[in-house]
Amino acid sequence: MAKEIACRDAGYDCDFMVRSEDESQLIKFVQEHAQETHDTQMSADDIRGAWKTV
Ligand SMILES: [Zn+2]
Repeated sequence: MAKEIACRDAGYDCDFMVRSEDESQLIKFVQEHAQETHDTQMSADDIRGAWKTV
């Protein structure tokens, strides 16, 4: 099972979407994107609460 997270699901007007079976890699990608693009810090728990299992 993979996890998927998309900015649109969080209400951002942004096409970023990432899907991975590697949770630590997914968290790292999302944290980098949130920081660089949205100037937002996301904790690993925030991300775990936001992703969908696909
Ligand atoms: Zn985004």
